[in-house]
Amino acid sequence: MRITGGTVLSMKPGEAPVIRDVFIEGDQLAERAGGETIDASGCYVMPGLVQTHVHLVQTIFRGLAEGLSLLEWLRDRIWPLEAAHDERSFRATAQLGLLDLLTTGTTTILDMGTTHGGDVIAEELVASGIRARFGQAMMDGGDGVPASLRETTGDSLHQSARLVMKWNEAADGRIGYAYAPRFALSCTRELLEAVADITKRLELLIHTHSNENVAERKLIEAATGRAPTAYLDDVGLVNERSVIAHGVNVDDREVAILAERGASITHCPSSNLKLGSGIADVRRLAPARGPARVGSAWARRADGVGHPRDGDARWREGDAPERRDRYARGGQEGRRHRPRRIASRGTGWGRGDADRVWRRLARGARRDR
Ligand SMILES: [Zn+2]
Repeated sequence: MRITGGTVLSMKPGEAPVIRDVFIEGDQLAERAGGETIDASGCYVMPGLVQTHVHLVQTIFRGLAEGLSLLEWLRDRIWPLEAAHDERSFRATAQLGLLDLLTTGTTTILDMGTTHGGDVIAEELVASGIRARFGQAMMDGGDGVPASLRETTGDSLHQSARLVMKWNEAADGRIGYAYAPRFALSCTRELLEAVADITKRLELLIHTHSNENVAERKLIEAATGRAPTAYLDDVGLVNERSVIAHGVNVDDREVAILAERGASITHCPSSNLKLGSGIADVRRLAPARGPARVGSAWARRADGVGHPRDGDARWREGDAPERRDRYARGGQEGRRHRPRRIASRGTGWGRGDADRVWRRLARGARRDR
């Protein structure tokens, strides 16, 4: 295959954008290749974007839960909507979300579902051609969880184990399983400790939320006596296989724990803006990034918000007054980040998986299928 006329963003350090042809032989970039030619004039040719925190099950909820802060948004709108999903709606929401992702340059995702429907989501992931790690959300406790979403501890663990057996390494390894205990407020300690043990033995990713807003943080502190990251660490869920969404309100000790354990914070600015949660200070997290890192600069659909054509929140801080107001309510001042720098850092999520992702346009790099 030959891709002609496009502006190549190789993501190689120090290499400027350049118009040149790209050749693909088999599944690798090559010096020369025959076969199909794609005219990419006027387009960028770049590695696929990696979206490290998305909820495909929430795609069709856009516009149905506005003007609420996190816990009200979950309890009053999102959890009841998730509870109402059936097979048809699961399929529709996954197909729409995946279409948005693939047509706007995202080729790898880390997805968190709800407490049912995991098989349907997995079927759509396989059919779409995207590279994904996904998990059915685990919720065996917490206030305001609809009865039809709440699981017993045993059933939650059984369902995830069943999905691992069925889908992990499916589609020649393109699809993998990531355990998804939703957040500390909806999971018992028993469940979290069991997930830590299982994921360690199976070497699977852990995908969860933490430090998303002040109210959530205070409830966790009241319930556990610990800061959210310290509590996750107590139960064994902070390690190099952890992808923790948000990290808006981490204190210095928590940053140190993340660095020490090699965990990743995935940065979700659009979601944080929508819910008025504040926004993670990625510059403060950056020194701890090696091993801890900013996971995703491309969170435009995190938690079911936004639309791909909204672009990334970082580009829109100056022209979205409503979002800016909510942002202000989160109690932090806006700041501009340097997108290219963050993008180039933000494409891995854990030891092992990072190596499988096509991160740079270089000869010998594998192409996405
Ligand atoms: Zn989320």
